[in-house]
Amino acid sequence: MEIFSRHIPIIGLEGQKRLINAKVAVVGAGALGSWEVYFLKKLGVGEIIVIDRDFVDYNDLARTIYDENDVEKPKVEVLKEKFGVKGYFEDLNPSTVELLDEADLVLDGTDNIYTRQVINDYCVKNNKPWIYVGVLGTYGNVMPIIPGKTACFRCLMPRLPSRPMPTCAVVGIMSYVPTLAASLAVSLAAKILLGEDIKSEMIFFDTKTMEFEKVEIPRREDCEACVKHNFTFLEKQMKIERMCDGSIQITPPEKIKVDFKELAERLKNSGIESLVTSQFIQFEDDYAEILIFKNGRMIVRGAEDEKEAKNLFARYLGG
Ligand SMILES: [Zn+2]
Repeated sequence: MEIFSRHIPIIGLEGQKRLINAKVAVVGAGALGSWEVYFLKKLGVGEIIVIDRDFVDYNDLARTIYDENDVEKPKVEVLKEKFGVKGYFEDLNPSTVELLDEADLVLDGTDNIYTRQVINDYCVKNNKPWIYVGVLGTYGNVMPIIPGKTACFRCLMPRLPSRPMPTCAVVGIMSYVPTLAASLAVSLAAKILLGEDIKSEMIFFDTKTMEFEKVEIPRREDCEACVKHNFTFLEKQMKIERMCDGSIQITPPEKIKVDFKELAERLKNSGIESLVTSQFIQFEDDYAEILIFKNGRMIVRGAEDEKEAKNLFARYLGG
């Protein structure tokens, strides 16, 4: 308790005890997740549960808590060693989402919208608070979600995006951005665990302009998740099939309306030529040949494995 003595004048002994008794899950252990774990540990949260299925890569080092000695180790194993977390080497999806059952609160450390929709459906259904966190380039946003009270993630983003989302791999990210977002997320986590009032708003910051903004996010009257309780992201999984010619077909859980013209434009901006027909758009990503149909179905030829095909899907349709 002594190590947390500087917290006591602010949150009291009772407050610190509440944090020590809390269980918080972090989904994803990369730039955001690893720093969220770090700050949760420093806050004194008693049990931290981490779900991630990735290894430390050399290019992670600038923006994560990992160092050279951790390269090629599973991220959850490193976090177990360093912070004594409970780690699951798993991908979070509808069939593993019950790993969140024991948590009082969930923190977003992911980098894609599909996993966030799964977390959102699960948390709204189980009346569990969670915090959405996103970072890119020099900016980030953080939004607390209290089911039934604030807007949920699906109020903010009703469906999977129809156009390619920018990713950190393309746009880049500054090392201090995830740290700042994780610190804000953990401060919101503390407020939620301590029972303080939480507003339906998103915090947006940009370290380039040094602007910090709070934007009120209203609940959507027809929200599929928090109003209609239609938890489609818990039912349907992204379907990945290996075709007989070796190509991999990915069918998204929800139909996506792909705007070929816009996609072609974006590809062109990143130096990729594409062929557009009435049925599909075809282009090459380094070595892989990609076909995307109007409803979001994607066929990848030349991807090494399913994970890589899934990454390509995330890059162009839902990253
Ligand atoms: Zn909602």
